[in-house]
Amino acid sequence: ATPMSVMVGVGKAAEYGALIRQGDALQLAGKVDLVILDKTGTITEGKPAVTQVVALDNDESALLALAAGLEQHSEHPLADAIMAEAKSRQLAPRQVSGFDARNGQGVQATCNNATIRIGNRRWLESEGVDLAALRTHEHSIAAEAGTPLFIARDRQALGVIGVADTIKADSKAAIARLHEAGIRVMMVTGDIGATAEAIAKLTDIDDIRAEVLPKDKAAIVEEMRKKGHVVAMVGDGINDAPALAAADVGFAIGTGTDVAIESASITLMRGSLHGVPDAIEISRATVRNIH
Ligand code: ADP
Ligand code: MG
Repeated sequence: ATPMSVMVGVGKAAEYGALIRQGDALQLAGKVDLVILDKTGTITEGKPAVTQVVALDNDESALLALAAGLEQHSEHPLADAIMAEAKSRQLAPRQVSGFDARNGQGVQATCNNATIRIGNRRWLESEGVDLAALRTHEHSIAAEAGTPLFIARDRQALGVIGVADTIKADSKAAIARLHEAGIRVMMVTGDIGATAEAIAKLTDIDDIRAEVLPKDKAAIVEEMRKKGHVVAMVGDGINDAPALAAADVGFAIGTGTDVAIESASITLMRGSLHGVPDAIEISRATVRNIH
């Protein structure tokens, strides 16, 4: 590539809000044949809200106050949703001690000499909690693209809270543009398969990898590169940083965390997924001009 045409391409991409931080990213972007998208904050707005509270003893307020007692110590977007709901219902968070966050699984703390856990099914079941009584509620939350957060006291299930996030208005259109460019689109998420499937259906995503622990996102990128794909990864979180660095081209959502932005080669200043097909189209046009 001539330095001149690359400079023009980088400038053009910047006009579209795609800041190219690494020189070769512009040329690589046009060769991408697989785009891997993080879910929360990338496909969705990343501002989840509580949609359902189910308490097995029918005391929803007590359950939310307990959940808020734990989540006030967490920085996860799911925690913000629970705190906002408790506040809007004017519930004071319970006092807890010994708070511990389990990356990609949930949170736990001690309250009245018992261990309280809030998190996904896999983790709570591995701690010996029987969640059978909450199955129907779990299905209805996931069918509406929400995330079920189970709550237990020691081994006793207490209830489930449904938290859902709005899909960005233009995610579906941006994914359609990727398809038109001959590119496959995959979602990776720590969330469960049923929730991921509901979102994939609404946005026409081709493949899903669900219940992926944060440390395993980069391994999926490596796996797809080994299969011969030229991979773009798009993400916003600290969790996504290793995967962004492992991809041929990493796209960080500009409103995301600094760690994600530093690990990516392109920053999408507008937060919209349209920046991905924009950069790919500009790259292809730039490379065409060179030959
Ligand atoms: P994502 O890929 O959606 O950002 P994470 O890897 O951060 O997801 O978390 C995966 C799952 O772990 C969540 O869907 C949730 O079930 C559980 N989890 C993580 N953090 C919390 C928390 N603070 N409170 C409750 N559950 C949590
Ligand atoms: Mg995210």
